[in-house]
Amino acid sequence: MSALQKQNRIRFSLLLVCFIFIIPVVIYSQSIVVVPMGKIDDKLVEQTVQKLKESGMQVTLSKKESMPTGSYYAPRKRYRADNIIATLQKRAEKNIYYMAITSEDVSTSVHGHKDFGVMGLGYVGGNASVVSSFRIKNKNLLYRIAWHELGHNKGIDHCPSKNCIMMDAEKKDRTKEMLFLCDKCKKKWN
Ligand SMILES: [Zn+2]
Ligand SMILES: [Zn+2]
Repeated sequence: MSALQKQNRIRFSLLLVCFIFIIPVVIYSQSIVVVPMGKIDDKLVEQTVQKLKESGMQVTLSKKESMPTGSYYAPRKRYRADNIIATLQKRAEKNIYYMAITSEDVSTSVHGHKDFGVMGLGYVGGNASVVSSFRIKNKNLLYRIAWHELGHNKGIDHCPSKNCIMMDAEKKDRTKEMLFLCDKCKKKWN
């Protein structure tokens, strides 16, 4: 066997190893694409991405985008969360979640209000969500909202356990109390 043939054989073997080991990991592990939108501090994005990685997700940081056309709600000078989610949902594939991160104020129709300001929104079983630092006193805790909305996308509803990440914010900023994923929610996380 010539040296070139030998080299090609090694290359082929390496390629085979890649197919056998790496591709299934890419297909079967869940990943999340974080999309910075509108006004947002780069450091806060970085910190949130880091924390999402700690949740066991593969995280990709996408390039910055403007707020989606049509999401602006002029009467309250803020952006409709549902519209942002609908924009991202179009890109979502199986096992890939999309999350918009912004410091703009976002709102949705909830608690009997047509337009209610929220810290984040993610539908149970959906593939896209949005998180906003606008209403959080301690901006460094935005990652807890990110975990919460991702939890909704993973099919988890609000949880009554004290200090669970999936607790209902009940119209307040309760990020300080959202400390961990309770055992029940942990089981549903995957
Ligand atoms: Zn929630
Ligand atoms: Zn829980």
